[in-house]
Amino acid sequence: MSSSFVLFVLVVPAGVADAKHDWPAMVADVQRYIKSLNFAYRVALRDANVKYINGLGKFAGPHEMTVTEFKGKDKVPKETTITAARFLVATGGRPTALGCEGSELAISSDDLFSLPQAPGKTLCVGAGYVALECAGFLTALGCDTTVLCRSMLLRGFDRECCDKIGAYMEHGGTKILRGLTPSSLAKQANGQILVTYSDGSSDTFDTVIAAVGRTADTKGINLEACGVEASPRNGKFETKLEQTNVPHVYAIGDVLQDKPELTPVAIQAGALLAQRLFGGGNEAMEYEKVATAVFTPLEYGAVGLSEEAAAEAYSSTEVFHSSFAPLEWSLSHERDVEKFPAFVKVICDSSLGGNKDLWPVLGMHYLGPNAGEVIQVHEIEGKTVHKLLVFSSFLRACTDFEFTIFGFSFKPFFFFVSILTFLLCTEPLCLSPVY
Ligand SMILES: Cc1cc2nc3c(=O)[nH]c(=O)nc-3n(C[C@H](O)[C@H](O)[C@H](O)COP(=O)(O)OP(=O)(O)OC[C@H]3O[C@@H](n4cnc5c(N)ncnc54)[C@H](O)[C@@H]3O)c2cc1C
Repeated sequence: MSSSFVLFVLVVPAGVADAKHDWPAMVADVQRYIKSLNFAYRVALRDANVKYINGLGKFAGPHEMTVTEFKGKDKVPKETTITAARFLVATGGRPTALGCEGSELAISSDDLFSLPQAPGKTLCVGAGYVALECAGFLTALGCDTTVLCRSMLLRGFDRECCDKIGAYMEHGGTKILRGLTPSSLAKQANGQILVTYSDGSSDTFDTVIAAVGRTADTKGINLEACGVEASPRNGKFETKLEQTNVPHVYAIGDVLQDKPELTPVAIQAGALLAQRLFGGGNEAMEYEKVATAVFTPLEYGAVGLSEEAAAEAYSSTEVFHSSFAPLEWSLSHERDVEKFPAFVKVICDSSLGGNKDLWPVLGMHYLGPNAGEVIQVHEIEGKTVHKLLVFSSFLRACTDFEFTIFGFSFKPFFFFVSILTFLLCTEPLCLSPVY
């Protein structure tokens, strides 16, 4: 521990305060990384003897699909027809448009990392994790950033935690306008976008990001040709064991109704489906109690029910919580740890009475460093134990343990969590859910 402390001191370069963020270099790195991922996936598919067609598919009949490939430098479309005994629809979602006048002027979070220059003064419309994550890192990079929030931040998550995230973001310089929606967007002569809000007030921005949700990308695949029904509202499928209303058409990922929209969820649902169809497996995908992380400036990890949802669903609940200063924040001059400490909350079903350690855990919420890794450990514990006993050791670790180096007091619970993560996870660094 002391050697890592010395290293920490040594690696802080002189003149770091004058450092400037290089947006084009970041975009180039992001694009390069995505290309390398694409390449790795193509190699993995080839190694698994999967034929990869880089084309746009559309049903032409119950067992037929027309595929359009755009070949060569001029991207000339070439159509072929393929047939299959079964189909798996995993077309994901596309950002929902703002639906107001001038909405075509807004970009999506996908477009953000292709901008040749930093976005400048930015309006993030929406208050879900996409809007807040974008707003958080843009503020940190020095962009004047505003969030336009129609009703509440991070709907569906624990209110107390969301309020703390909002307060911390505002403290860090992100502006949050509440109770407003955009009525119109209009391009100005200087290239900026004039945004008029629902209360008649307005402001100008260099960039507007639409982050008001995503719509399943199923409208263009001619579902009628094979008889698959999708919700007319959002294009999603009601499925049973990932099977649509047409038995030979399956679906996974963001096209599923009322399932968590998370990468590892889509991957695991696909892997289990393949096992069931071709590998003699019988394990069904478990969509409940999936851990998730929100990468706002105050990172948030959650698994299970929020305090509000638990109170609604259970006759008697009790909440355990703790605020604390994590080791890695203790030396940061930027963080006001007194005002914005890390926070952990465990919600239990207290209807059984008796020994609290045996109460079933309904939800856990954590605000602090490495939220993705921390919460996935507790998902594993939750899935196996579901009792307060194991979580209470975490709560105690947050508040009780402390040691001192060079006069600084440290609470080493992250050390325990890291070891737990290492012991329990096959891929300790993967995001959100672990299976
Ligand atoms: C900004 C942002 C941040 C996110 N952060 C996280 C995170 O931190 N952790 C996490 O777990 N999840 C995160 N998600 C969610 C995650 O990206 C999705 O849940 C996941 O990608 C869903 O996988 P999918 O396979 O269903 O769809 P996608 O990954 O969207 O893949 C769908 C694919 O189908 C293709 N396609 C569409 N139509 C056709 C067609 N007609 N023919 C052929 N191909 C077609 C698309 O081009 C696309 O390649 C984030 C999402 C966004 C937008």
